Amino acid sequence: MTTVLPPAESEMGAEFDFDYVVIGSGFGGSVSALRLSEKGYRVAVMEMGSRWSPETLPKTNWNLRRFLWAPFAGLRGFLSLRLFKHVMILHGNAVGGGSITYAQTLLVPPDRVWSEGSWADLDQWTDVMPGHYDTAKRMLGVTRNPLLGPGDLRLRQMADVVGVGDTFYATDVGVFFGPPGAEPGSVHPDPYFGGKGPERRACMGCGGCMVGCRHGAKNTLDQNYLYLAERLGARVFAETRVTDVHPLGLSSDGREGYAVHVRPTYGSSAGARRYTARNVVFSASSLGTQELLLRLREDGSLPNISEQLGRKVRTNAESILTIRYPGSKHDLSKGIAIGSGIYIDEHTHIEAVRYPAGSDMMGSLFTVLTHGKPGWSRPLSWVVAMIALLLRHPLKALRFLLPFGFAMQTVILLCMQTIDGHINMKLRRRWYWPFSRTLVSEGDRIPTFIPEANRFAEVAAKATGGIGGSSFFEIFFNVPMTAHCMGGCAMGRSAHDGVIDAQNRVFNYQNLYVVDGSMIAANLGVNPSLTITALAERAMSFIPPKP
Ligand SMILES: Cc1cc2nc3c(=O)[nH]c(=O)nc-3n(C[C@H](O)[C@H](O)[C@H](O)COP(=O)(O)OP(=O)(O)OC[C@H]3O[C@@H](n4cnc5c(N)ncnc54)[C@H](O)[C@@H]3O)c2cc1C
Ligand code: SF4
Repeated sequence: MTTVLPPAESEMGAEFDFDYVVIGSGFGGSVSALRLSEKGYRVAVMEMGSRWSPETLPKTNWNLRRFLWAPFAGLRGFLSLRLFKHVMILHGNAVGGGSITYAQTLLVPPDRVWSEGSWADLDQWTDVMPGHYDTAKRMLGVTRNPLLGPGDLRLRQMADVVGVGDTFYATDVGVFFGPPGAEPGSVHPDPYFGGKGPERRACMGCGGCMVGCRHGAKNTLDQNYLYLAERLGARVFAETRVTDVHPLGLSSDGREGYAVHVRPTYGSSAGARRYTARNVVFSASSLGTQELLLRLREDGSLPNISEQLGRKVRTNAESILTIRYPGSKHDLSKGIAIGSGIYIDEHTHIEAVRYPAGSDMMGSLFTVLTHGKPGWSRPLSWVVAMIALLLRHPLKALRFLLPFGFAMQTVILLCMQTIDGHINMKLRRRWYWPFSRTLVSEGDRIPTFIPEANRFAEVAAKATGGIGGSSFFEIFFNVPMTAHCMGGCAMGRSAHDGVIDAQNRVFNYQNLYVVDGSMIAANLGVNPSLTITALAERAMSFIPPKP
């Protein structure tokens, strides 16, 4: 923390290098960058991930070096998989944050979320949020999916089988489909921002959204918020990781601004630099902001962060199941990444997900659908399920077990429940590696699988001639997988029940904000990015224009 670093060039002239340094360029960071730039502030965005273009994105997710993010292993992609004791968390690292790899489903949660958790009563939420959701939808180009692919039609068939066909819906998504009758792949001048945005191509329904859209149809943040912010002068520093943030001057509460230390994500610490800013916005995602703030609190850079940091981290109570049709003639990879959804009961929501043809890597994370009780006995249930499958359909079973063909033959079921549950995060030294502290989860177990969803998958697979699948991590490590990590720096009335106030200001500090998924204080039960965007719009609405 005390390494002497060369001063930034601009330290010679201006009082601060930037008015605002934003850490992370995902939903919270990109909204902040644009709105602050519009208000006349000098903004820098520090992003540890890379900048991607249609030319550099991987063709399939077998290209692990460009798909997965694990710099220590030489993987410089954009999808990170982090295994904790309680949960396996998937998240994005890139210029544009999770938007590069996400499935662009943008749903408004039910009103009840505003009366739960530590943010209840902090505002007239149900009065103020609709306006911010409208802005977020306009900026992200949200529209109803007109391309129901074979996988979506299968989901509708499955819903009919279990008697919930009337709940089937096409998703609201951030994708450009072109004007009515547009040819897939046709080029159109900026359709969203009166000519100020980039030109776009109409969606081809290739199913490639989660491997990165190589056709310019997905409304990623580098095509809207971040694109416009850069045109207004915001500087985006890609492959630049923030390692320290501490108050400048004699006062310890940040009223004199902050020093922000960065180093190149890849390469040596020789490229480390120090910038100064009047204000800092933490937008490094729920996991990223918690980890960075926990380190800064323990290292003494920001020692007065609330004890609530890392508490009440929520996962949308998710479980990912599959139904695979080995040898099927229907190409289930066509359509958009999440084309449709159903509700199998009032708490349980299931979406149909897909990867593009050839992107079978995720198939290696799944095995036969396994029931039983979470814990030591579940692997035994798996053995029984495997034997039963091999005896009943030996050939089909072998094809099912190999990942090849997974994307074209599988409907992935993303199951979410609105039932609340949470874990806590903290830094701890591991007995096998005591030299550094790692982020670990603790607390009661969150549900490892959703029995209602498992039952649905079993019945639906039988009725449609498929084979149900569960994730290996669920069965052997007793952890669910989630792409929806939320909370950890929740809003509250004071530092006793939250980390930030109702205007996203960090308690006990000045000029310090948290604007990302970590601010969320309830289980949304739907994909969170639209809510993060809307809440970021709200947070920025409190900041006055630069005098
Ligand atoms: C495969 C997948 C599919 C998904 N599908 C959907 C979906 O369909 N709909 C939906 O709503 N949500 C979806 N999500 C979730 C969604 O991506 C996240 O909820 C969302 O991106 C969170 O936004 P955020 O602003 O909190 O941060 P993020 O978008 O995660 O951005 C944070 C950024 O901060 C950067 N960062 C972190 N630490 C540092 C540091 N120290 N220095 C510099 N930079 C740093 C990271 O690299 C990252 O780019 C999906 C996620 C995944 C992984
Ligand atoms: S389906 Fe293909 S073209 Fe359409 S948004 Fe997804 S990746 Fe882009």
